[in-house]
Amino acid sequence: MKKAFVAEMEALLHAEREKIVNELVRVSPRVIAGDAFDADYNTLGDKEDESADKAAEIGDNLSLENELSSALRDIDSALKAITNETYGTCKYCKQLIDEARLKVRPTSTSCVACKKTLTQEM
Ligand SMILES: [Zn+2]
Repeated sequence: MKKAFVAEMEALLHAEREKIVNELVRVSPRVIAGDAFDADYNTLGDKEDESADKAAEIGDNLSLENELSSALRDIDSALKAITNETYGTCKYCKQLIDEARLKVRPTSTSCVACKKTLTQEM
């Protein structure tokens, strides 16, 4: 990978990471505080209905939270790959991933050909 291109992707990944972290703080401040998520749904409301409503609300936040957390993991592993100088290499065939593909999705870890094969197998 060209150094300039990797630097460009690194800046992009950092910007994206910041956005996601901000979003995570909004959705669930606990994530950033580092505490395990262990809400007891039964204590959320006195009446059963209220409990269910709040649990549903938390459920929505949780799925968003999971989505954001997994996006954050992808970004962190991409940033780690940059540090290890393995960024932009397909994890399956070890060929360089198209720059165009990385520009669209900087966290890509497989080339188009491998991704295609995988998708077809599934
Ligand atoms: Zn590949």
